[in-house]
Amino acid sequence: MKKTFYITTAIDYVNGVPHLGTAYEKITADIINRFKKLAGYDTHFLMGNDEHSQNVFKKAQELNMDPVKYCDMMEEKFTSAWGRLNVKFDDFIRTTAPRHKKTVSAFLQKIYDNGDIFKGYYEGFYCVSCERFYTEKELDENKNCPVHNTKPEWIKEENWFFRLSKYRDPLLEHIEKNPRFIRPEIRKNEIVNVLKEGLDDLSISRAGSTWGVQIPWDENSVTYVWFDALINYLSGIGYANDTEMYEKFWPANIHYIGKDITRFHCIYWPAMLMAAGVDLPETIFGHGFIMQSGAKLSKSSGNAMDLSTMIDELGAEPLRFYLASEVTLGQDGDFSVERFKEVYNSQLANDYGNLLNRTLTMVDKYHGRVVYKSSLEDELTKTVTEAVKKYYELFEDLRMKEAIQEAFRIITEGNLYIDNNKPWELAKDESSKEKLESVLHNLVDALRVFTILLYPVMPEKTSEAWRQLGFHNELDTILYEKILEDKTPEGHTTEKGSPVFPRME
Ligand SMILES: [Zn+2]
Repeated sequence: MKKTFYITTAIDYVNGVPHLGTAYEKITADIINRFKKLAGYDTHFLMGNDEHSQNVFKKAQELNMDPVKYCDMMEEKFTSAWGRLNVKFDDFIRTTAPRHKKTVSAFLQKIYDNGDIFKGYYEGFYCVSCERFYTEKELDENKNCPVHNTKPEWIKEENWFFRLSKYRDPLLEHIEKNPRFIRPEIRKNEIVNVLKEGLDDLSISRAGSTWGVQIPWDENSVTYVWFDALINYLSGIGYANDTEMYEKFWPANIHYIGKDITRFHCIYWPAMLMAAGVDLPETIFGHGFIMQSGAKLSKSSGNAMDLSTMIDELGAEPLRFYLASEVTLGQDGDFSVERFKEVYNSQLANDYGNLLNRTLTMVDKYHGRVVYKSSLEDELTKTVTEAVKKYYELFEDLRMKEAIQEAFRIITEGNLYIDNNKPWELAKDESSKEKLESVLHNLVDALRVFTILLYPVMPEKTSEAWRQLGFHNELDTILYEKILEDKTPEGHTTEKGSPVFPRME
């Protein structure tokens, strides 16, 4: 039986279009998923859209559109952006889909039957943009929402409540026993502090609204949007309709989300799962934000840059590379076009691209594109062996940036190796024939290995390099465990092609 791996991202509100901040999450999740696939896991990658927000309903009304039609239109915009960024999910869940509604109903009914949902009376400050209640002390000094700087509404209604308070101690215990449950550490500490202060029961229904999943036993109420949204992680793997799939992939290995929604994922969600008798996910990972000139790129603050233009002008794959190699997972990162070009030109054009071109040119010039065998174990082959091992360990621990840096040691060593061995001089001397064959083989093989290691980050560009190196199998069918033993065979031929990473001006 293959090991399984199930990763989810946050589902997105569809009242705006995707931007670099949302793209960062999906890209890095896609990279993790592709890594796991090559690591031999049977993977499942779920993404989706969160459609039951009141903001979505309002937006559709403004546009004079049926809300479901509006969501259909937005689904196309989102999935086409993900496609352009080579984000390859296995399933895309929409919270208006019948399979999701069915799951929400079944899940709610289960908690209700277990006695953790009761009728209560709620009044409080509600920010419509955040879709959540705030206590008075959580509002800013002008009594505004701390995120949106707008006046919250005072809402007073009879609601269904979830007995969240009951799960404070079990949650604290679970977090203590499972040090990898909430990552990184800073997010875990925040959650533990919130739990230590105590939890209030949670209002989970809205009366009088029709936009949402109806409460199964109360036709006049719909489910609170967050309660509804979190359940997508179960509807995406068939909790209510596909036992085989559900048993195969649940519990999820990683819920990969932004650091601003950890409270929902690390408190509400595990408490809901406990109440329904469902196992908890292995890890909830809260990634940081991407800043541009220090400003957060968020769906609601209005300073988001146009993702589509960025893809057109900078390229999807170089963007993926920048985000993965420049930002430490779990911390905030910065994006600027200047830094982007710097990174691209130095690491991709000068280092990787240059090593690839130099090597292919020499194999062509000295050996008519044929790669002979190597009888040489040296600095380069040693670096390759070490880098593969370290890269793997770092990536398994989600230290993506360091893993990429480790892989790049192969490139640095490779360029140095050419300068030190001077193949152009070996080529002049018949007695160096075997040495030249070995040197060129080692270079091609180092590039083979590096290209596989970089594949999760840049699936398309590495595939181009892969073909120029003369390989014809698909990169996503390779397994890391075979990477060192499956050496470039004797008599292998390389191909010609134009530079994969032309310099950017
Ligand atoms: Zn707000």
